[in-house]
Amino acid sequence: MADLLVRNLDWLIVWDEANARHAYARGWDLAVTGGAISHLGPGFAGTAAREIDGRGLMAMPGLVNVHSHASYIAVTKGLYEESAVPDAPDPVAGVLHVFSSLMTLQEHEKPHALNYALAELLLSGCTSICDLAFAWDGWLDTLGASGIRAWAAVQYASARYVSPNGHTLGYDWDTAGDGARLKAAIAVAERAAGHASGRLSPMLVPAQADSCSEALFRDTVAAADERGWLMQTHAAQTEWEVREMMQRHGCTSVVWLDRIGFLGPRTTLGHVVFTDQHPWMHLHARDDLPTLARTGATVAHCPTTQTRRGKTLQSFARYRRAGVNMAIGTDIHPHNMLDELRCATVMAKVADGDTHALFVDATFEAATIGGARALNRADLGRLATGCRADIVLVDTGHWTMKPLRDPLRSLVFTGLDRPVRHVFVDGVQVVADGTCLTIDVEAAAAGLDAAQKRMLGDVPSRDPLGRSIDSIIPLSLPMLG
Ligand SMILES: [Zn+2]
Repeated sequence: MADLLVRNLDWLIVWDEANARHAYARGWDLAVTGGAISHLGPGFAGTAAREIDGRGLMAMPGLVNVHSHASYIAVTKGLYEESAVPDAPDPVAGVLHVFSSLMTLQEHEKPHALNYALAELLLSGCTSICDLAFAWDGWLDTLGASGIRAWAAVQYASARYVSPNGHTLGYDWDTAGDGARLKAAIAVAERAAGHASGRLSPMLVPAQADSCSEALFRDTVAAADERGWLMQTHAAQTEWEVREMMQRHGCTSVVWLDRIGFLGPRTTLGHVVFTDQHPWMHLHARDDLPTLARTGATVAHCPTTQTRRGKTLQSFARYRRAGVNMAIGTDIHPHNMLDELRCATVMAKVADGDTHALFVDATFEAATIGGARALNRADLGRLATGCRADIVLVDTGHWTMKPLRDPLRSLVFTGLDRPVRHVFVDGVQVVADGTCLTIDVEAAAAGLDAAQKRMLGDVPSRDPLGRSIDSIIPLSLPMLG
């Protein structure tokens, strides 16, 4: 007997093995047994412990988010969206300084930020995430309790970003501490691998290409190879970073990471916007995309955070043509994978100035299959017999889905998270009727609000120039009275 049966689904997005792509099906049944998809097709003859009427629903695979900072970044709402740091010549560099040195969540505040982000992700049909974070108490248990499938992506770095005067950004290096930091990260990753929830996995993350020593990258590769673990870093995120790397090494961030052995099919690079063929870089070389394709490394494309700074990949379609494995990450709020998917799709067209440059099937593939490939998990990101039952049921009768000719387009271009009705991870329901079952969203939001108020009150005492947050990042409108 199956554990769950969704009978007579109006629509499904299933994996067409013969053509190696997603395809629509209609009128099929979907059964789940022991956390895996045990039947997919018309006319299920068996019985099930629980049955859902699939009429008015579309089943699709849970979305895979390969790059998020769910542990802390939700607290930057109202601060980080438009990078308004007036004294910093490079807006991202300015924000890095503000963010890493002026605004820091206390340990007891972090569960609120993480729960808030995880609820938002689950409610937008995301069932797998990589949470890139510096390890904190309660991290793994909070991930585990949410019901999501998570890679605890433990960050560490050889250097801190510092700005003694508010307008330059530099590095405070401590390479002597590299060994201890890697050892501590491995210990946390091992606890993730053995977590009682059974849904956590480890990932090692030297935080940024420019903030970690070559030795730290090489030691990370050795540790990950020995254990079969995945790796990730931020690379080619800003022009500023790539210029810095070219000064240091005479090559781009991507080429340097390849030279030191960091790139491979178990490695994901966050962002990778400023490759050597990005027009703003004005470089002669054309090595970055072929290097990514040759090594099998994944690009975690996080369009929302980049487009808010007026930047985007040049271009999603070109990376795909070059043979680069593309995946999607949310990086920043909103933690809404469907919103990210819309942004990725639209910006791919803008970047090439061509509505036909790329269609939503390609970005949907990145948010499912591409992510699963990055995680070396062929049993995720697709609806197929034998795959894990990470399933999203979308209400095709929802007003935002009408008129309903093409449900994937209705969902990504109009509906977004609004018609997401039920979500399952490993066959366990985590969202029911649009409500997150595992997280008290209101409590998380209240805790996060209080944390932001406390954090912003502390800014003048942490800022070297004693400024208030309103003078560093002004409100979007002036305050009367
Ligand atoms: Zn990031």
